[in-house]
Amino acid sequence: MIELTDVSKWYGSFQVLDGCSTRVGKGDVMVICGPSGSGKSTLIKTVNGLEPFQRGEIIVDGTSVGAPGTDLALLRARIGMVFQNFELFPHLSVRANLALAQVKVLKRSRDEANERGLRYLDRVGLLAQQDKYPHQLSGGQQQRVAIARALAMDPVAMLFDEPTSALDPEMIGEVLDVMVGLAQDGMTMMVVTHEMGFARRVASRVLFMDAGRILDDCAKEEFFGSPRSGRAGEFLARIL
Ligand code: ADP
Ligand code: MG
Repeated sequence: MIELTDVSKWYGSFQVLDGCSTRVGKGDVMVICGPSGSGKSTLIKTVNGLEPFQRGEIIVDGTSVGAPGTDLALLRARIGMVFQNFELFPHLSVRANLALAQVKVLKRSRDEANERGLRYLDRVGLLAQQDKYPHQLSGGQQQRVAIARALAMDPVAMLFDEPTSALDPEMIGEVLDVMVGLAQDGMTMMVVTHEMGFARRVASRVLFMDAGRILDDCAKEEFFGSPRSGRAGEFLARIL
């Protein structure tokens, strides 16, 4: 579904990604961890074309992300992305937030967009909140709306960038529960997170990054199974 081959990226003379290669199969859940500044956000943003890269190749569902002819707007519509800070439109109701991109990008009718939006709002347990505005919701509820909004676009894969790190501790569980449900339903996911409980429950693979390089890319059982040495071991010892 997603394949990265030798992806490198520079900001000026600073190399932020250094020869990153990995693949995420259909239905796989790839958890990406590593120290702050190691390039995790940059890596997943290259996958949906939010960040250009200078070398290598990324193929998503048969489409080459970096190729000159690729329609990046269409690509982004097909890959859901959920950020740390929810990024809902503050001046729109929950229902309108869910419908907007469906109408603008997928050209769905207002009725169809609302109907689909509400179906996914129900799935994240927030149907009763459809007329509220983002500021009237808790952080955990806003993040669940953001997930529902992405799902309403029928994405082929979902990217998450530290979706729970801006949340109060008591709200982390409700967002992770939605993500676990998605994983169990077979959604292809790349998830930057330090929630190792989530990784243990649903990850198929764990990728460890440091200084722009992928140092570990292995099955969950292998990643957690034996004491890890080197940078990944130090990192795990600090966060577990
Ligand atoms: P992570 O998500 O792992 O914390 P990032 O991908 O956000 O790391 O950033 C990786 C590195 O790239 C950091 O050193 C960061 O300072 C740098 N960086 C990120 N965005 C930019 C930018 N727009 N210009 C220059 N450097 C950047
Ligand atoms: Mg980041």
